[in-house]
Amino acid sequence: MRDKLISGRQVINAILDNKELFKFPEDIQRFAVIIEDLPSMDKLRGEWIDYRPYNIPLFDCSICGYHVKKMSNFCPNCGVRMKGIENE
Ligand SMILES: [Zn+2]
Repeated sequence: MRDKLISGRQVINAILDNKELFKFPEDIQRFAVIIEDLPSMDKLRGEWIDYRPYNIPLFDCSICGYHVKKMSNFCPNCGVRMKGIENE
């Protein structure tokens, strides 16, 4: 599975919306603590990977795999900030 930047709050809300899937109610609280402790997406950095199908220059987001023709500061698909790209 490719990484995808999502809101921790939305994950917790999705869990709360599906409480019936949890056998023990205390497991919901345990998951909430685990999600809260995950690294923040504002610290996550991706990079553009040079990807040349049929010799056409394309760049691949290292986080989500989205292809772009031109590198930019952020991936237009997952929103991650890219390493080494300044002043775009
Ligand atoms: Zn991406």
